[in-house]
Amino acid sequence: MLDRLKDAASKAVASARDRLPAAVQPSSPPAEGHTSAHSTEVSSGMASLVDVLPDAALLLDSSLRLVHANGLARDLFVTLRPRQHISLTSRNPDLIAAVTEASTSRRRVLFELHVRGPIERRLEGAATTLTGENNDGAPDLLVVLQDLSERDAVARMRVEFVANASHELRTPLASLSGFIETLRGPAKDDPVAREKFLAIMAEQATRMSSLIDDLLLLSRLEMRAHLPPTALVDLNLVMSDAVKPLAGIAANNKATITCLPRKPAPRVRGDHDELVQAVQNLAQNALKYGRKSGTVTLSVTAGASGRSSTASINVADDGPGIAPEHLPRLTERFYRVSNAASRDKGGTGLGLAIVKHIASRHQGRLEITSALGQGSTFSLQLPLADEN
Ligand code: ADP
Repeated sequence: MLDRLKDAASKAVASARDRLPAAVQPSSPPAEGHTSAHSTEVSSGMASLVDVLPDAALLLDSSLRLVHANGLARDLFVTLRPRQHISLTSRNPDLIAAVTEASTSRRRVLFELHVRGPIERRLEGAATTLTGENNDGAPDLLVVLQDLSERDAVARMRVEFVANASHELRTPLASLSGFIETLRGPAKDDPVAREKFLAIMAEQATRMSSLIDDLLLLSRLEMRAHLPPTALVDLNLVMSDAVKPLAGIAANNKATITCLPRKPAPRVRGDHDELVQAVQNLAQNALKYGRKSGTVTLSVTAGASGRSSTASINVADDGPGIAPEHLPRLTERFYRVSNAASRDKGGTGLGLAIVKHIASRHQGRLEITSALGQGSTFSLQLPLADEN
């Protein structure tokens, strides 16, 4: 029978997705008196096989009572009890109908399940019969449930992202088309209007190209997300390289940029250019959204955070600050506190999303603190390099 179980399990696993959602990773060992009690009828080989399946799996006997469940199934159905009929574990009619049909027809039955609760989940299930024997207590049916919720969420995010990106590009494009029409028609012979409109058109074209640059950068970062950078990078140097190109913007805003390096310079494992990009985005925001004639202060610091040692590049401004309700969403793509202010200042809504990606590729994080009327501090925190 173990062979039949292996066969059934491999069929079920074949349809399982590559990655397991974190929410249902096999976590806790079996609760005391939980699996062990009802594993007595199931051989230890069969139980171990069910335990290592990458999806939630249950073994039921021919009366549809629970014989064994792996950790993922116990996480999913918190009310699972040994020898309990499946209908007491879940009231879900689709699950009950599928296992009943598989048990009576002796065929493999595929079904879909929606589990309600604090986190709603969509699962794809397969109920497969194991033996022709009908003795009570012996495993007769293997039920495997693959959680599709995370895959669904990623698909939804992609659709939303494409819709947002298209909308962002369509706005300047519509403006360009409008001015082309005007220049061909009513403003054809008006040199003053032409100059004015051409200036606006150039601005819109710049906006589109910044957006495309940021979108390409984001997708390059996503592609490299799983390759941690290995070079040794000096954070004082990152800070000074990041501020160099900003002198012009600072002068326009009559703002002062101050850099406070740390001695000795903290070093991290990283990609110099990516870190410069991240700090530049933060410093540019500080200049854009900070006070006119204000001060932007960049500093490099190092210290212990929890069990590890971290180094930070901090960018502080003395601008109007950000209301607390916006802080958790600032790094979402296209999230802006004020759409008009961001667009006025040539923002794409992707700057902080890029910083967040760069931070996580470096096993770091972005911490944001802000107080209305006092200013904001964006702190890019990175693990210090172990140079031994
Ligand atoms: P954007 O291209 O709009 O600047 P970002 O992702 O860089 O996009 O920033 C998202 C939003 O966060 C901005 O639109 C702005 O509302 C807010 N923000 C970012 N940095 C600051 C800052 N230093 N002070 C105040 N608001 C800020």
